[in-house]
Amino acid sequence: MTGQTVEHRKSSNTRKLMTTVVSEYIDQCIQCHHCIDVCPVTKGSFTINELNQASKDGQEVPTKIKEFAFNCMQCGKCVPVCPVDIRRDYMVRYIKFKMRGQKPWSYKRYLFIKGPDLAGIKGIIQRLYIALKKITTWDLACFIETTPVEKAEVLFYPGCYIYSKKTVRQTLRLLDHIGCPYTVLGGVTSCCGAPHMLQGEFDQADHCLELLHEKIKAVDPKIVITACAECYEAVAQIKTTYHEKFEVLSVVQYLQRNSGKFPNIKIRGKILLHDSCRFSKDSPQSSAARHTISSFGELIEAPSVQGSSCCYQWNHGCDQSNTARRIAYLAEVKNAAPTLACNCLTCYEELKKLRTGVEVIDVLQLFTESLDNAQGKERGY
Ligand code: SF4
Ligand code: SF4
Repeated sequence: MTGQTVEHRKSSNTRKLMTTVVSEYIDQCIQCHHCIDVCPVTKGSFTINELNQASKDGQEVPTKIKEFAFNCMQCGKCVPVCPVDIRRDYMVRYIKFKMRGQKPWSYKRYLFIKGPDLAGIKGIIQRLYIALKKITTWDLACFIETTPVEKAEVLFYPGCYIYSKKTVRQTLRLLDHIGCPYTVLGGVTSCCGAPHMLQGEFDQADHCLELLHEKIKAVDPKIVITACAECYEAVAQIKTTYHEKFEVLSVVQYLQRNSGKFPNIKIRGKILLHDSCRFSKDSPQSSAARHTISSFGELIEAPSVQGSSCCYQWNHGCDQSNTARRIAYLAEVKNAAPTLACNCLTCYEELKKLRTGVEVIDVLQLFTESLDNAQGKERGY
């Protein structure tokens, strides 16, 4: 693709850009099959040629490919193996876009109340949901669906995951401990648009991103931090697209930068790090997480049989094999370590639901435990 990539798109033109880039990919594909060979979803009930044809604008999508596209969790495992640098994940995302009028209910439900400017029944349900959450999570109510207008050096952006109470409460405690001037931008009305983007809802994704940019600009932060890998990707894209100067860090990266403010003590034994699809093993975010685990415990590497890990969230339960895959993964983990630490909030929320005997934690929990431990010692516990 000439001049632009999808990551460098100007807001509001993803649909156009994807149409162009996917058409170019179809011409460039040498049909070597490597992408589908590594894909965890399918072992090939269709040919690459059929898949490429289905990706064409205006071309019918056969049922077997439609099913594959909805099962695709946008993990990106197909990308590094392509000898001609084609993004097969984008091509499948484009099929999702083509099929947006025929999406399963689990896809629609996931986005139902996410995003700004929702009207009609969606708007009513969104307002009811927010009102209920403000009552049930009263201690976080002042951060829910507000637009911070005051300027701050650090912007903590939990977006939709403001409702993931444990991680948000821990992050607020850690930021207070560090003593940095920060503000919070959280709520479904400040969604980053990544959930829409991964479903091929390009116009909604662009709209979310554009409005999020406006909200971030009002804070004028030096650093934006988030614990979700999808939010991180979206904010990093805002920075690139709008030539913003702020830095984007994962929460763990930011905590690592301030590691001198935390006790230097081993508080745990073996911990295995879950490398997510978007915070992959060779990323700076993963490096910060590895450093954290090594500081507070014993870092164990992921079982080789699994390769890079995936929480199987982004097909929204379409693939009936998701649970079996997660259980098999956690069984591998259990052989290596009693605890799995997630570096992405999406993975944490998904994997902690399963009762397999593996303790699933968020990496940043190790920082709060180090504070608890030190305070306990000071009190003579
Ligand atoms: S992004 Fe989709 S097509 Fe690519 S490997 Fe993952 S599930 Fe398969
Ligand atoms: S790996 Fe690349 S070139 Fe080979 S079939 Fe897949 S998209 Fe085409």
